[in-house]
Amino acid sequence: LTFAQLGLSAELLRAVEEQGYTSPTPVQQKAIPTVLSGRDVMGAAQTGTGKTAAFTLPILHRLQKHANNSVSPAKHPVRALIITPTRELCDQVFDSVQTYSKYIPLRATAVFGGVDINGQVKPLRDGVEILVATPGRLLDHIQQKTVSLGQVEVLVLDEADRMLDMGFILDIRKIMSLLPKQRQTLLFSATFAPEIKKLAEDFMHAPETIEV
Ligand code: AMP
Repeated sequence: LTFAQLGLSAELLRAVEEQGYTSPTPVQQKAIPTVLSGRDVMGAAQTGTGKTAAFTLPILHRLQKHANNSVSPAKHPVRALIITPTRELCDQVFDSVQTYSKYIPLRATAVFGGVDINGQVKPLRDGVEILVATPGRLLDHIQQKTVSLGQVEVLVLDEADRMLDMGFILDIRKIMSLLPKQRQTLLFSATFAPEIKKLAEDFMHAPETIEV
């Protein structure tokens, strides 16, 4: 199986090829077609399996193919929101988004705690289609109205089990309650504790479970 057979755009195939990837990993083979179909996904995948590309590539494909026709005061509303438990993961995922979107005119930024919040405001104000964030700092931006999430089409919760371990579950619930109800939700976690299953029940729509 090749990335081309998964139906990804020429721009994404070019970026993937430049990374030297010859074939999709198992989680990519399973997740990419499902995410492209628009369905919600519960993905059981550990770090190192290629899970970042498994959600990033089909999200970029969908954002590229489906223009946002909604009337919005911002020219570049946030359309994809990716939440990670830590600053390090946030940075890594942002890096991947930058790498894979190299040939696609979409903008991205990352917001995480531990650094001055003011430096994060300008990219948000200028507009980004893809936002990678940690939960606490994202809530700070929401409170300060430096970001608006009314146009989010797809939400990713990456390493949901770590978010639970780190005490972010209520923050996540708060953020999810603020997003448009009609959206795609992708949840990746190494394990599915009862609280994670409950989260999926409350905030996801008929998710397809993917295990590798
Ligand atoms: P992740 O599980 O997302 O943290 O990815 C682990 C590593 O695998 C990263 O360094 C990626 O660049 C790399 N990777 C992702 N997809 C592929 C692929 N299809 N072929 C080879 N390497 C890949």
